Amino acid sequence: MTGHTLISLTSLEAQLMPLWQQFETTCHTNTARIMQAFARHRLSDTHFASVTGYGHNDQGREVTDKIFADALQAEAALVRMQFVSGTHAIQCALRGALTGERNWLVSLTGKPYDTLEEVIGIRGESPLSLKAQGIYYAELDVLKSGTLDTTFVGEDWVTLQLADVVFIQRSRGYSDRPSLSITEIETLIKAVRKINPNVVVVVDNCYGEFIETQEPTAIGADLIAGSLIKNPGGGIVSSGGYVAGRADLVALAAEVLTCPGVGAKGGYTFESTRSLLQGLYLAPTVTTNALKSMSLFRQAFAEQGYEVSPAVSAPMNDIIQRIALGTSEKVLAFCQALQSASPVDAFVTPEPWVTPGYGDPVVMAGGTFIFGSTIELSCDAPMREPYAVFLQGGLSYSHARYALEKIIQAVS
Ligand SMILES: *Cc1c(COP(=O)(O)O)cnc(C)c1O
Repeated sequence: MTGHTLISLTSLEAQLMPLWQQFETTCHTNTARIMQAFARHRLSDTHFASVTGYGHNDQGREVTDKIFADALQAEAALVRMQFVSGTHAIQCALRGALTGERNWLVSLTGKPYDTLEEVIGIRGESPLSLKAQGIYYAELDVLKSGTLDTTFVGEDWVTLQLADVVFIQRSRGYSDRPSLSITEIETLIKAVRKINPNVVVVVDNCYGEFIETQEPTAIGADLIAGSLIKNPGGGIVSSGGYVAGRADLVALAAEVLTCPGVGAKGGYTFESTRSLLQGLYLAPTVTTNALKSMSLFRQAFAEQGYEVSPAVSAPMNDIIQRIALGTSEKVLAFCQALQSASPVDAFVTPEPWVTPGYGDPVVMAGGTFIFGSTIELSCDAPMREPYAVFLQGGLSYSHARYALEKIIQAVS
C-alpha cells in the first residue's frame, strides 16, 4: 500500500478470495482443454513456419484452425490475420450464414454493437450493407426488462418464425444492459428453436471467451466470432479475428473472407502461427487476470459508495466493468490516473474527444502494447450522465492493482 489510499486493497483481496478460486477453477478446465488440443493435433515447431504466396497446404495454418476449433468446442474454426477486426469476422460469419434461401436476420439482443450498424445497414448508406443487399432485418430485445425474457408472444413470435438467422450479442459491450451467461444463452437458444427449429444461431462472442468452461458453440450456437486483440489472443496477438462453429458455415464465412473456390485453403499466415497459438495458450490465464482485476476495481468502488455494474454480488459474464462516478471531473481524473499507470504512453494526458459514430465526447485511456487492445487494461467514458467509465482488461493483476492505487488517490 502506498501513502494515503483510504481503503486497504489487501483486505479487499481477502474478501475476493472465494470468487478468485472460482475463476481459477474455470481457468484450469479451459487450459486443460487447450493443452489436449495441442497434443491431439501434434503441434510441433515446424508449424510455426509459413508457406508464402498462395499459402496452399500450409500445415501451420491448418493445425491452428483445428486447435482453435477444439479450444472453442466447435466443429471447425477459421483463425486469420486477414480479419481486420472482430467486426470484420462477425460480418463474414453473418454474410456466410445469410446465403441461398436464408435472407432474414433477427437480432435477439436489441441494437448490436456500434460497429455492426453499418454492416447491417441500420446506419450509413453503404450499398454493400446487408440490408442494401436484400437481407431483411428486425430486432427483438430479450433483455429489455433488465433480465432475460424468452416469452416470445404476438409480433415477436411472428418475427421469430420469419428468421433464418438469429444474432445474439454475448457481452454488454458499452451499453447498459447486462452481459449474458452461457446458461442464459442456452435457455435463449432453446426457446428460439422451439419456435423455429432450423434457425441458424450466430453469436458475437467478443469479450466472452474463456470466461466460463463452455463457449456458445458447446450449447447450441451454430457460429461464433470474435477479435484476437481481446480474450482469445492472450494479449500477445497483434491483430486478427476468428470464426468457429458448424463446418459448413465456417466454410461459407471463409469464402466471404477470401473468395469462392479458395475459402480456407489459401492465405499467407504472416509467420503468425506461433503467436496465435501462444496467445491461445495464455488466453485462459490472461482472461482470469482481467477478471481478477475487474473484481478488485468493482469491490473498491462499491465500498466507496459508487454504483458498479455488474454489481458486487452479480456474476461477471465478460471482462467489462462499469463504474458510475457521477461527475465529469471524476471521470477525467480516473482516466488520467489510469493512463499515467499504463506501460505505454504514461506521459500522455487523455482529454474528451468527439469520435465519429458517438453522440457525446468520449475520453479513452489505456497505453497498451497493441493499439486498441482491450484485453489490456483500458477504459472508455462517454462524457454524459451518469458519468460512468467502462473499464476492461488487465493482462497483469499486479499492474491493475498498481493502477487502482493511483486512481483511488486521484478520484476520492
Ligand atoms: C469489440 C466488440 C466487437 C468488435 O469490435 P472490433 O473493435 O471490430 O474488434 C463486437 N461486439 C462486441 C460486443 C465487442 O465488444
